[in-house]
Amino acid sequence: MVKIKLLDGKIIEFKEEKVDGFKVAEAISPSLAKAAIAMELNGKLCDISREIDGDAEVVFITAKDQVGLEIIRHDTAHILAEAVKELYPKAQITIGPTIKDGFYYDIAYDETFSIDDFPKIEAKMEEIIKRNEGFVRKVVSRDEAIRLFEAIGEKYKVEIIKDLPKDEEISLYYHGEFFDLCRGPHAPNTRHIKAFKLMKVSGAYWRGDSNNQMLQRIYGTAWRDKGELDAYLNMLEEAEKRDHRKLGKDMNLFHFQDNAPGVVFWHDKGWKMFQTLVSFIRDKQTAEGYIEVSTPELLSRSIWETSGHWEKFKENMFTATAIGEDREYAIKPMSCPGAVQIYNYGLTSYKDLPIKMAEFGKVHRFEPSGALHGLMRVRGFTQDDAHIFCMEDQIQEESRKVCQFALAIYRECGFENIKIKISDRPQKRIGSDEVWDKSEAALIKAVESLGLQYEINKGEGAFYGPKIEFTLTDAIGRDWQIGTLQVDFNLPVRFDASYIGQDGQRHNPIMLHRAILGSLERFIGIILEHHSGKLPLWLAPTQVVVVTVSEQFSKTARDVEAKLKSNGIRAELDIDNQTLSYKLRKHILAKTPLIVIIGKNEELNNTITVRRSGSDEQRTISIDELLNEIKSELIK
Ligand SMILES: [Zn+2]
Ligand SMILES: [Zn+2]
Repeated sequence: MVKIKLLDGKIIEFKEEKVDGFKVAEAISPSLAKAAIAMELNGKLCDISREIDGDAEVVFITAKDQVGLEIIRHDTAHILAEAVKELYPKAQITIGPTIKDGFYYDIAYDETFSIDDFPKIEAKMEEIIKRNEGFVRKVVSRDEAIRLFEAIGEKYKVEIIKDLPKDEEISLYYHGEFFDLCRGPHAPNTRHIKAFKLMKVSGAYWRGDSNNQMLQRIYGTAWRDKGELDAYLNMLEEAEKRDHRKLGKDMNLFHFQDNAPGVVFWHDKGWKMFQTLVSFIRDKQTAEGYIEVSTPELLSRSIWETSGHWEKFKENMFTATAIGEDREYAIKPMSCPGAVQIYNYGLTSYKDLPIKMAEFGKVHRFEPSGALHGLMRVRGFTQDDAHIFCMEDQIQEESRKVCQFALAIYRECGFENIKIKISDRPQKRIGSDEVWDKSEAALIKAVESLGLQYEINKGEGAFYGPKIEFTLTDAIGRDWQIGTLQVDFNLPVRFDASYIGQDGQRHNPIMLHRAILGSLERFIGIILEHHSGKLPLWLAPTQVVVVTVSEQFSKTARDVEAKLKSNGIRAELDIDNQTLSYKLRKHILAKTPLIVIIGKNEELNNTITVRRSGSDEQRTISIDELLNEIKSELIK
């Protein structure tokens, strides 16, 4: 007899000595048996055909679960490989993992694939899916696996098998005649693949090593149904239209160049935007009792050894030496160790805590050149960092303040949909359970006290403390993890930071690392795409452009510009000798929020004509009316 315990605690008993997932699903309901894609057997994900020969706990996975969707994507990757092999028998297949929103398969083939081949490959995939064959798992010996793949000329697979650890179980997944080396799991058959599309093809080195052969990577996406696929494709189209790299050019904000990979050249307007964000955060945090410091970018290697970054983060750090000096430096990848040096400079009493030390720290981290992506992924960026040195019993209150602060900032930047995740203790960690209990509870209470919803990310905290993460959903539904609040019991100990407690003894403070926008560079990329370049007035690098109908109105236009500027408004003048419609197009493309037009009537009546970005409507008003409108909009 086998007893199966289900997610809801219910127990089903079977008379047989052994059952499989199908039987269990059927015993629950025929619809579940139809919908089940895989199961968790005693916590381990596997095929539903897997035999269960003892009492067990079973949780079924369907397409509704994210894991289920990922299995469908992986199924589709196999079907892609199968289709390629049927169409191009000389092609060799290598690896085909799932990635965010889809999958890829790396293929070795002498001829070049292009997107023009996709309709043919997709049609073949459809044909294979319609055969509705099952995915069948077969465990084989190492020698047998090598023999099978050698027989069909799949030398990359043979290489993978030879590199597997000696004791690893080798499983193949058959689908009709086709088979692939795979750990699984897979859905029982192809009927769960309902909506897929091949997306692009690019080069990729075998095993990511540029000394190896170049393979062709075919990317695809797969979804639960046609509706989801269409929504995804629409989102991509929208994302392309509002790509911050394109907006950066149209709005003349920044550029990159090949001889400075991953670092930004900020143009006048982009830098204005950058500085506006800095002042925005600075003013608010000053009001919240933060102090601001600046720590060196170049620090001796020994500091990074003490902090532990040299051991854990070396691969991501840029190092430097000077000719004539026998000493190694690292360019800071984060500002935390610097902040502790300032904390340690004086003598701190418990009465001084919390000390909230902010820094707009320019940091550098090595990223492989292939990973760089406009402002979203760079090698040099500025963090709106702060380190809150406090006592254990202050964690909750300080965390509550940080959450409140972060939410207010996100809302002012135009983000309404904000998700909060709390990551708790990982397996490997430092600090006593008592301290973890207290600090996890402090974070949860902080978030709850503000009436906010949150999710727990089990075991995802850092080894030195739990954390809160803030994720923003943008206008086209993409999630961006932006801010963090990280409790740290470790760094103050490593640098021997202390305060004199009420008991007259030395104690280590707790450090809270907090970043609201995270990387300012990346945040600018995100906010540009979120608003499609139509920034809120307070953040727009140029708020008003004054445009003349023809040259003769230049003086009046100049006076209007001067009046706007003297009222603290970021105004610009366009008295170029071009047609009005040309100039309007130019400023609409540059997404300037307000365009003021000066012509004959305006000059005569001492008025201005105003046009808002994104609207054709024009209004003729007095300059004072405009000033009032702008001021009330900025105060909001
Ligand atoms: Zn597989
Ligand atoms: Zn830090």
